[in-house]
Amino acid sequence: MAPGRLGFHEGIFLLLLAVAGAGCSRPAEDVVLITIDTLRADHVSSYGYSRATTPELDRFFASGTVFENAISSAPCTLPAVKQLLRGSFEAHAESQTLAERLHQRGFVTGAVVSQHQFYKQPDAYRRGFDRFDIQSLDEVDQHGMTARTAREVSNRAIAWLDEIPSNRPFFLWLHYFDPHDPYEPPAKYRGFDAGSVSARSGDRRTDLEQEKRSTTERARDAGYIFTPKDVQHLINLYDGEILYTDSEIGRVFAALDARGITSHALVVLTSDHGERLGRGGHWDHCASLGDEELRVPLFVRVNGGPLTGRRRETGQASTLDVVSTVLALLGTPQEAAPAVARDLRKLPPTVVPPWPSGTGAGRRAMRTGSSSQDREAPGQSSTRWRAIRSRSGTWRVAATRRNRT
Ligand SMILES: [Zn+2]
Repeated sequence: MAPGRLGFHEGIFLLLLAVAGAGCSRPAEDVVLITIDTLRADHVSSYGYSRATTPELDRFFASGTVFENAISSAPCTLPAVKQLLRGSFEAHAESQTLAERLHQRGFVTGAVVSQHQFYKQPDAYRRGFDRFDIQSLDEVDQHGMTARTAREVSNRAIAWLDEIPSNRPFFLWLHYFDPHDPYEPPAKYRGFDAGSVSARSGDRRTDLEQEKRSTTERARDAGYIFTPKDVQHLINLYDGEILYTDSEIGRVFAALDARGITSHALVVLTSDHGERLGRGGHWDHCASLGDEELRVPLFVRVNGGPLTGRRRETGQASTLDVVSTVLALLGTPQEAAPAVARDLRKLPPTVVPPWPSGTGAGRRAMRTGSSSQDREAPGQSSTRWRAIRSRSGTWRVAATRRNRT
């Protein structure tokens, strides 16, 4: 534990007690945002998954709040993360980020990122960070994908915790990439795949997709290349990547605990989008508004406890709500907060809206943000219907029972 840090926070705590009176909740001092790329909510144990994929997340957030019904604002990394960092669909590169807002408040800001695509528009992601530790291009693997492992992200994050000045609060953003394909967890984390009879290596970019490319014309949308055994094999490996990432994030949680940070920090963990995982022969993401791609885990723990009076919230939350919530907790409501962003402490219960019903005005909307998929849908959706608005403003209602948009 860094004595200076504790002294600072104790001082803040006493000051707040004097102002607010003993027994009142105090704002968190430090802010930790963890995003795990490509993590589907229904593959997280806390969300009912039958496998123990996330023991560290489950343990750490058992004292926090689980948002059972959370969606990302987009099914694709770049718009989803840009919007998450700003709490707004209007995620222009020049719009203010959470890091900038916190930096203005005197926070030390740092990010450790495993995601090669952020190089394409670095200012959209790095703005406001004193240190933005993104992998170098030589950390991209032979598939052109990110190769900075969860272990490396955690190592760098833990080292950064020891460099923070003792007299300033901090904001730390960590982005892990391992559950993104190709699914190749370290050998220790391949237990879910024990006994698999599949001959596939698990690297579908070199095997399965190469095979698919060769028959693309005939196989498009047919999905027959992926046998049930292939699908299960790859899901096994995907789950192994989640378990591996969970284990490494557990080291960060332990580091926060050991430094006395957890008790006065706001810790948020979520994902940028899900993954189709072979349904109908489809993999990847960035392709639909189905729950496989949009539903993400969302955990919040503040000052060592839950964010709200309940451990589990069922109202529909969005990754867009994170910035609003952080700023509200710090006593700085977001100026001109976008109508779609909410304080997660004040979520209304989930309401299944009747479809179709007009233009969708007043509902929470989502937009993928990419030019090829620029469409909107109310965040509140039933299990059967989802409204989608094209760029021209025309609304249509899509059935989601078959997870098609
Ligand atoms: Zn992603």
